[in-house]
Amino acid sequence: MNKVQAKESFVMGKVLIVGGGIIGLSLAYELAARGKTVTIVEQGDWGGQASSAAAGMLAPLKEFQSVGPLLDLGMESLQSYPRWVEELQAIAGGDVQLSLEGLLTVALDEEEEEAFYNKYLWQKKAGHDVHWLQGKELQEVEPLLTDQAVAAIYSPGEGHINNRFLLRALVTACRKLGVDLRSGCVVSKLLHHAGCVEGVETSSGRIYADHTVICSGAWAGIMMQMLDVSIPVRPVRGQIAAVSSIGIPLRTVIFGSSGYLTPKKDGRIVIGATEDESGFQREVTLSGLAHVLQGALPYVPALHAAAFLEAWGGLRPATADGKPIMGEIPGLRCISLAGGHFRNGILLSVVTAKRMADWLETGNQERLMPFSPGRFLTDTAVPVPSKMG
Ligand SMILES: Cc1cc2nc3c(=O)[nH]c(=O)nc-3n(C[C@H](O)[C@H](O)[C@H](O)COP(=O)(O)OP(=O)(O)OC[C@H]3O[C@@H](n4cnc5c(N)ncnc54)[C@H](O)[C@@H]3O)c2cc1C
Repeated sequence: MNKVQAKESFVMGKVLIVGGGIIGLSLAYELAARGKTVTIVEQGDWGGQASSAAAGMLAPLKEFQSVGPLLDLGMESLQSYPRWVEELQAIAGGDVQLSLEGLLTVALDEEEEEAFYNKYLWQKKAGHDVHWLQGKELQEVEPLLTDQAVAAIYSPGEGHINNRFLLRALVTACRKLGVDLRSGCVVSKLLHHAGCVEGVETSSGRIYADHTVICSGAWAGIMMQMLDVSIPVRPVRGQIAAVSSIGIPLRTVIFGSSGYLTPKKDGRIVIGATEDESGFQREVTLSGLAHVLQGALPYVPALHAAAFLEAWGGLRPATADGKPIMGEIPGLRCISLAGGHFRNGILLSVVTAKRMADWLETGNQERLMPFSPGRFLTDTAVPVPSKMG
């Protein structure tokens, strides 16, 4: 795997990761592959929250609306995916169904056409691999696309992965690399002394570590409150559904302003998704389901004949400025945060794991700075070590 065995690093000894979603598991795997001693705790099942609810799209050009650190982060992660998956599969076995066969961002009317064309122009100018398609070109790329489509941005290098298989592979790889995996283990308290976090109190006893990384998704804000730190991470529910294949398979991911369709290698099509502010409730509502189904139908008329398979909900971890949070918490020692990935945690998991592991090895935070937790903390909000007791 060409990982350098860490001889001496910034964080010595044991790393404890709280939260066994895609972010926590990817970091555990990366650290273990670099020779670190890692424990990861998860209150429920591995990946049982947002990470298994996701559609699995890997689509930074579709998702991010301007050039800048977030798009760079997404592109770096997308480009790192093939090698990451190859190495992971070599350890864990199986196939996580990575498919980078393109994505269409489809305009159904002139207003959307203008907005997407402007997006295409800045993406092209920035050197990204995007194409502007019109007329017959649209069905040449995706025969199942509606003939009502006016135009589309085609990004041939984007795609999707089976995020549930990916989670399973990460758990297997972590196990093989010697990670101490504890599921069904609820963290109720962060143990700290004089500004230094020493571990956690859990439903199955205390766990001590030299460094603790919080990767608890939509619950990260709650966990920060245990330290009197206010970092705003809130849950945004996504309701999403799967339908059967519709004869000939969809070639590309189709994304539009009212919904998206992600073709899976097993023939299912995952369609989504709502964005609801509903606290920590993740059930599917009738209006949510209707919104999802009606939102996808205009793009692929053949979907009318598809069989409905299932629907589910998940809680995206959202931040106040839409960017993820990575790195140390000002005023505290031996603790850091990796979270707030909102709609893109599957995409960003690889780069998050690599940049966090680099920082934990070297102490150099430069590549985390645009995403530092400190951006949410005013001077008065930074915890004072003596207050921590
Ligand atoms: C409907 C939907 C569609 C999506 N589609 C995509 C997509 O196509 N592409 C993409 O890149 N992203 C997508 N996302 C976003 C992606 O799913 C999230 O950004 C990502 O899963 C966040 O990962 P996480 O590990 O931070 O959070 P989670 O997966 O929620 O993991 C956090 C874990 O922490 C655990 N935890 C919390 N509190 C405690 C505690 N006290 N003790 C122990 N454990 C605790 C939780 O049980 C949970 O398992 C989608 C999300 C949704 C909901």
